[in-house]
Amino acid sequence: MDQHQCLECGTQIRGRKDKKFCDDSCRNLFNNRKSANNNPWVRRIQNILRHNRKVLQELVDHQLVKSKVHRMRLYEMGFNFQYHTHVQKTPAGNTYFFCFEYGYAPLEQEYVLLVKKDKK
Ligand SMILES: [Zn+2]
Repeated sequence: MDQHQCLECGTQIRGRKDKKFCDDSCRNLFNNRKSANNNPWVRRIQNILRHNRKVLQELVDHQLVKSKVHRMRLYEMGFNFQYHTHVQKTPAGNTYFFCFEYGYAPLEQEYVLLVKKDKK
């Protein structure tokens, strides 16, 4: 008889060799974790975006809804300018880079304009 371990909890399983889990709940736990955020790329970029959002949120919520700050201020707070969730162009020709509902538009001399989208 084969003896091997449950991939989720490590319990010894007796029986067919293709049986990988001791029961359904172990199989579900294993598969959920694997698909949700076990991919290192997804996890890493989600963390960057979440942090970027937090930086913008702090600056916007503690100042005005529209405010002008120097890029250095964002860098100092760990903002990563390489990552954003989407880009929007206004009819006036400005480009906004968003991290979820918070965004910024590059201005002259390394300043950026911060915005927050209204719930609609
Ligand atoms: Zn198990």
